Amino acid sequence: MYDPRSKCADDFINHEEIMETLEYAEKNKHNRELIDQILDKARLRKGLSHREAAVLLDCDLEDKNQEIYALAEQIKKDFYGNRIVLFAPLYLSNYCVNGCVYCPYHAKNKHIPRKKLTQEEIRQEVIALQDMGHKRLALETGEDPVNNPIEYVLESIKTIYSIKHKNGAIRRVNVNIAATTVENYRKLKEAGIGTYILFQETYHKESYLKLHPTGPKHDYNYHTEAMDRAMEGGIDDVGCGVLFGLEMYRYEFAGLLMHAEHLEAVYGVGPHTISVPRVKRADDIDPDTFDNGIDDDTFAKIVACIRIAVPYTGMIISTRENQKCRERVLHLGISQISGGSRTSVGGYAEPEPEEESSEQFEVSDNRTLDEVVNWLMGMGYVPSFCTACYREGRTGDRFMSLCKSGQIQNCCLPNALMTLKEYLMDYASPDTVEKGLKLIQEQIKEIPRERTREIVQERLIEIEKGNRDFRF
Ligand code: SAM
Repeated sequence: MYDPRSKCADDFINHEEIMETLEYAEKNKHNRELIDQILDKARLRKGLSHREAAVLLDCDLEDKNQEIYALAEQIKKDFYGNRIVLFAPLYLSNYCVNGCVYCPYHAKNKHIPRKKLTQEEIRQEVIALQDMGHKRLALETGEDPVNNPIEYVLESIKTIYSIKHKNGAIRRVNVNIAATTVENYRKLKEAGIGTYILFQETYHKESYLKLHPTGPKHDYNYHTEAMDRAMEGGIDDVGCGVLFGLEMYRYEFAGLLMHAEHLEAVYGVGPHTISVPRVKRADDIDPDTFDNGIDDDTFAKIVACIRIAVPYTGMIISTRENQKCRERVLHLGISQISGGSRTSVGGYAEPEPEEESSEQFEVSDNRTLDEVVNWLMGMGYVPSFCTACYREGRTGDRFMSLCKSGQIQNCCLPNALMTLKEYLMDYASPDTVEKGLKLIQEQIKEIPRERTREIVQERLIEIEKGNRDFRF
C-alpha cells in the first residue's frame, strides 16, 4: 500500500499509486480548471504533490504550458538568483561487478580497459582539476568490493582534500558510489563528503530487475532504500536522479517526486539535488536500443515541472547534454552544471589515447571550464565556485530552512561573487577576466544587506592581494 512514511521501497515507491497517478494525469491533461488550481498552488512556492506535478507534466494546453515555463523560470530566479554552481566528475575506478545493461562498465565487458587510480594518480588528477579552477568534485566509481572497497574511497577523499597546489583546493567532494551500508555512509560522512549522490536509474521495479540482471545492484529494494540508510548514517544532503531513456519518463517523474516526498516525510528534508541524466552512447552501449528516449522538448518540460514541484531542491545537468540543450534548461531550473569534464578513469592530467578509452559515456559538451564560465557570464549568469554551505554546517534541514526564509540571498550571492573573483585572479583567460570583473561590479548591487555589501567589497580587495577562501 502507498505510504510515504514507510521505509520499505515497495510502499513509498508504490507501483499502483504511480499507475493511478499517470491515469489521473492523462485524464486531466486538458482540465483547465484543475491546471489553474495547481498553478495557483505552485505560485505559493511550497511545492506540489507528485499527482499535481504529473498533471502539469502531461498538460497539453499551449497557453498553460507557457505559464508552466514562466513559473519555473520565476521560481528559479527567486530561489537561486542567476547563480550557477560549477563542478567536475572524477572517476576513480571502473572495476565493476554489476551487470547494468546501459553502462559500459558492466562486468561482462571484457574489452574496455579496467583502470583504478593510485593515490599518486589521484594527486595528479586533482592538481590538473585545481589548475582548471575547480573547487567541487563528484567522485565516481564502479561497484567492486575487492577493487573499490570503502577504504579505497575514504583514502581517496583524504588525498583529495589534502592537496593544496598553488592557490587551488578542492573544498567539497560529493560522492556517487553504489548503494552501501549505514556504517559505510557514516564513514563517508566522517570523511567530510558533501552530497551523497545515487541515481535510481529507474523506479519501475520490473524493468529495474531486467536492466540490472546480475550483481548486488540487482536488489531493487536495497538500492531504492539507500537514501534512508545514508540519512541514518548522518548524511543529510542526498542527491537523487533517474537515467532518462530506460523507462517511461512519466513513470520516472512520478517516482522521483514520491522519493522526495518520502525523504521529506520521514527525515524532514527532501533531496538536496536532483540530476536529470539521459542515456548516452558508450563503449558497447547503443542508446537507440532503449525504447524510452526523450526529445529535447520533453526534457525541458521535465526540468520545468521538477523545478515547480520541489523549489528547494538544486538541479544538476552534466556534459551528457550539449551546449544548446544546456542553454535551454538553465533558466528553467538547473542550478549546477559540470564543466571541462572527463568521464574516463584518469584523463585530466594526461588525455587518454582513444584506443585505450575507459570513458563511461560520450560527452556532448567538450568545452573547457574557462569557455563554460565565459559562456555563462555572456548569458547573464554568475558562475559560482561556492562550497560554503556544508563547510558552515548548513546541510539538511538547516540548509532548507535558510533557503525557505529567503536569507540564502545574503550568503549565496556574496559567496558566488567572491569565489568567481578567485577564479578570475587564478585561472581565467583575459576575456573571461574582463567580463567577470564587470559582472561582479554589477552584481554587488544586488546583495540585499548593506553591511554584507561592504564586507564583500573589502574581501574582493583582499582576494586581489592574494588572500583566499572567504565565505559567509
Ligand atoms: N556505480 C555507481 C552506481 O551503481 O550507482 C554510480 C556511479 S556511475 C559511474 C554514475 C551514473 O552514470 C550511473 O548511476 C548511471 O545513471 C550513469 N550512466 C551509466 N551508463 C550511462 C550511459 N551509457 N549514459 C549515460 N549515463 C550513464
